[in-house]
Amino acid sequence: MAMTEHKTTAERGILIDGKQTARRLRQSIAHHVEVLVADHKIMPGLAVVLVGDDPASQVYVASKEKQAVAAGMRSYVHRLPKNTSQDALLELLRKLNKDKKVHGILVQMPLPKQIDTATVLRAIDPAKDVDGLHIENVGRLASGLPGLVPCTPLGCLTLLRSIVPNMSGLHAVVVGRSNLVGKPMAQLLLRENCTVTIAHSRTPQLPHVTRQADILVVAVGKPQLVKADWVKPGAIVLDVGINREQNAEGSRLVGDVDFASVREVAGYITPVPGGVGPMTIACLLGNTVAACCRQNELTVPELR
Ligand code: NAP
Repeated sequence: MAMTEHKTTAERGILIDGKQTARRLRQSIAHHVEVLVADHKIMPGLAVVLVGDDPASQVYVASKEKQAVAAGMRSYVHRLPKNTSQDALLELLRKLNKDKKVHGILVQMPLPKQIDTATVLRAIDPAKDVDGLHIENVGRLASGLPGLVPCTPLGCLTLLRSIVPNMSGLHAVVVGRSNLVGKPMAQLLLRENCTVTIAHSRTPQLPHVTRQADILVVAVGKPQLVKADWVKPGAIVLDVGINREQNAEGSRLVGDVDFASVREVAGYITPVPGGVGPMTIACLLGNTVAACCRQNELTVPELR
């Protein structure tokens, strides 16, 4: 269905409920885990490695652990001290790569200064790289081959598909070109036959560029950067940004999109929190099931 068919005044600013979609996805994952256990005696296992004591990372890791267990998986969390050497981390990854009970490995970012992120990402077995950041999985995505795709863009794609099952020919603008979000998001949209523009900090006349978008994905890390007059009426707006803002009452999370004003113009929009965020961990669990199936030469279930 063409997206223009969705653009009526009455539908403007419809909230995209990431919490509900993520809940449905987790239920579907839990069902497939049950089938793997009952029919094949295989329980998917996710290993998460946390180096140091960054408070935000601790919260993310605890949430990953809790949701993996709730989906019926095995969860292995390795909490290493801040001064862990790169060699010690690589040694742990070698063990996890060999461990048959571990189907997915995620190293929580950011890593302390003494550790080289690229070296660590390369050390993860690509078949277990559930964050989709190993160069082999990056290449697979760019080449249109099956592989593991980074969780946040995968979550965005799942949300988009729930609104426009056929995105072919739509103009998608992705603001941000990080390896974690922007670049893989652009690749996924290209795979859906969108016409894709990638914008970044050096893009001149950014509001003019974003106004061309039928689908606008913003992953920048700048609170409320995108204003109402940056958005084409009726567009689908996905706000990936998570920014903590201090105000008189304390702190609150805001996205990269000025939600209140953009909602008046957009056709669909994700809130922050409760939009893209909840999809990320659900997709991590989905990637773990997919990795587990491939490692055991089983058909990868379609999770939605
Ligand atoms: P990042 O690595 O810092 O990349 C930010 C990108 O935004 C860069 O490509 C940068 O351009 C671009 N940019 C910066 N300022 C800009 C401006 N004024 N105009 C246009 N582009 C600009 O960040 P990230 O890891 O992609 O994360 C982006 C945001 O998403 C952050 O708020 C992060 O917390 C959030 N996030 C959320 C989730 C989730 O689960 N919801 C997951 C990951 C990240 P250059 O390349 O030119 O520097």
